[in-house]
Amino acid sequence: MGKVAINFKEGTIDQAEEEIIVGIDLGTTNSLVAYMDSGIARIIPDQVENTLLVPSVIFIDEENNILVGDAAKKQLSIQPNSTIYSVKRLLGKSFQEVANINSLTYQLKTEESSGAIKIKIREKYYDPIELSAMILSYLKKRAEQVLQKKIIKAVITVPSYFNDHQRQATRDAGKLAGLDVLRIVNEPTAASLAYGIGLNKQESKIVAVYDLGGGTFDISILRLEDGVFDVLSTHGDTALGGDDIDQAIISHWMQKYNLPKETSQIDRNRLRQLAEEAKICANGNALFQNEFNGVIVSLDSSELETVVLPFFERTMISCKNAIKDSKLKIEDIDEILLVGGSTRLEFIRKQLSQFFSKSVNTSLHPDHVVALGAAIQADILAGNNKDFLLIDVTPLSLGIETIGGLMDTIIARNSKVPISQARSYTTSIDGQKNLKIAIYQGERELVQHNFKLGEFTLKNIPPMPAGLPKIEIQFLIDPDGILKVKAKEIRTNTVQEIEIKSMQKLSEEQMAMMLIDSIKNAQTDLSVRGLIEIKNEVNYLITNYNRFLKQNETILTQEEKSTINSCIVDLQKVKESDDKDGIQSIVDHCNQLTEQIAHRIMDYSIQDALQGKGIADTNE
Ligand code: ADP
Ligand code: MG
Repeated sequence: MGKVAINFKEGTIDQAEEEIIVGIDLGTTNSLVAYMDSGIARIIPDQVENTLLVPSVIFIDEENNILVGDAAKKQLSIQPNSTIYSVKRLLGKSFQEVANINSLTYQLKTEESSGAIKIKIREKYYDPIELSAMILSYLKKRAEQVLQKKIIKAVITVPSYFNDHQRQATRDAGKLAGLDVLRIVNEPTAASLAYGIGLNKQESKIVAVYDLGGGTFDISILRLEDGVFDVLSTHGDTALGGDDIDQAIISHWMQKYNLPKETSQIDRNRLRQLAEEAKICANGNALFQNEFNGVIVSLDSSELETVVLPFFERTMISCKNAIKDSKLKIEDIDEILLVGGSTRLEFIRKQLSQFFSKSVNTSLHPDHVVALGAAIQADILAGNNKDFLLIDVTPLSLGIETIGGLMDTIIARNSKVPISQARSYTTSIDGQKNLKIAIYQGERELVQHNFKLGEFTLKNIPPMPAGLPKIEIQFLIDPDGILKVKAKEIRTNTVQEIEIKSMQKLSEEQMAMMLIDSIKNAQTDLSVRGLIEIKNEVNYLITNYNRFLKQNETILTQEEKSTINSCIVDLQKVKESDDKDGIQSIVDHCNQLTEQIAHRIMDYSIQDALQGKGIADTNE
């Protein structure tokens, strides 16, 4: 962006003034916001309570008032159905990918055509992006109150195993919260920066980052060279963390004190709270004792070790795999950094230093390192650290048009150049022979608001039912900033490509205006996108139901046929409506009605058709 500064309040471009870029750790359990205070990274506290951690919990009441953090967490045991936690586990994922998460106390819904997940709270449906944005807004507000400054720019961290979709969803959440997300940084990279690793350009090092949080575990092995971090390998378990240790303490108590198995939700929550307290207390080498329903429950440090051991052993399997994949030996690892609240467990620290035959680095608070590192990265991006030259990045996002005129980003803004990124798509009409690929640059959700860079047609796709062809679209930017777009139908190897040389046609002002518009319109854009997506879903279901009726003509009972037909009628009726939640509940209802029928007549071609998004036909 050069030296252009954006005044988001006025929607104008100003002379550059000193600005603060915050670093955000958007965690599964807890989130934090940090900034650079004359060369020192600091976590921004709550103004009144002085607490640093913001529980990643959201509560929405009947009047749609939103609570975030500690206040929301209190509602967990009172109104579990409208209190959302662990939303990071859903971010950027499809329903199929989270099918195994069944312990959530709130309701998940899916859109079949896109596989997108929605969270239902009373009669409203929320996107994980929207909910994550609520946490980010809260952090933004906290920073603004404490620093007495408008905060617009941010760096947000994500686990190194996050894929392209999860990273894009994190960016979108930032945008929705009114933040210009300058960079998505890997959590282990941020942790390294917090420890000062990577701040000296001459330094070469191998770093292992062991991150055990509330609900997830991961280990990453990084190579630092010439000021650049490379993730050599990463392994982990998305269902292993401090919460599981708490649960194991409860099981231990159940056995030891013969507690009743059937307990109320309130009792269960109280036990969970006691177990976490006991863990922290016993870890501090004190004996925990408290009363639960007339029974004195206790935990000492040796009992805690017995409980923790099997979990620790599971993390070791990942560690060994990560070392193997990195093609290094244990001795090659120069630093072991601990991240996440659960690495405060003494037993884990001891075992780890034994395994690596090296002392583990614990000088920084493991709950804070990621946010602190994000603030340091933000400071580098702000140009305050003169040792770092800014590398070439893409000034705006690049993507293609999908059904309904939606922008599908393939390379995100601020990606390092050169870069190559690909995504899979499919057709939306039976027998579709051609696929128009229109390439756009910009940050808005609808392509009509972005800049068109070019288009071409992938021809001669062999006729197949909609959803069956697999078309990979690859964007490649070479070191000179030239964009090549390649489309390939995988089954038949049909290829077509285009080269775009004029990506830099836009002036800095135009790009700045694009950013202002995208943030100003984020809320409307997201609801327009949501409406288009649900309408796409309706069309998809109608086509699918009709095909299903035709294909299974002889197998379906009369009653089943009329159920499906009435669904088609309902969907046709609701198609023109602009009430997103209303359409969604009809879609849900139809899904429920037809699910059992579909189960009875399992059709694998339909399963297959669920993969990928569609692109409209060119009618050629
Ligand atoms: P996330 O990265 O998932 O957002 P955190 O890094 O904030 O999570 O870690 C939260 C976990 O750390 C919780 O399970 C909590 O019980 C645990 N924890 C916090 N303090 C301690 C402590 N002193 N000893 C043991 N576990 C702790
Ligand atoms: Mg974390």
